[in-house]
Amino acid sequence: MKKKPRPERARSERRLRERATQKLADDSERLFELEEGGRAERPLAVGSASLVEVHARSVPCPRCNGVHDLLEHVALVKDGVRLREARLRCRQCGSMRSLFFRLLEARLN
Ligand SMILES: [Zn+2]
Repeated sequence: MKKKPRPERARSERRLRERATQKLADDSERLFELEEGGRAERPLAVGSASLVEVHARSVPCPRCNGVHDLLEHVALVKDGVRLREARLRCRQCGSMRSLFFRLLEARLN
């Protein structure tokens, strides 16, 4: 018969594990924000608006690697630059984040 760990010990181990998992998720989230597209100041360049949604959906959740649902696709202007913001929510853990894109448009002369 397998001996169960003492409840107190199991509890503190679980807490430690949860804290470590949480920290890892927080770090991943921070990394995500530092990468291209994670902030309005560092948008990802895409060729057309339709690629915004394709790309946004292809990026996994930094916290749990889950699939994102695209909640909204918003056009905005930041410091004179026209941007697209894809608002995402993870289907698995429910965390929310945005990806930012800059459209590479053919200039009109
Ligand atoms: Zn997630």
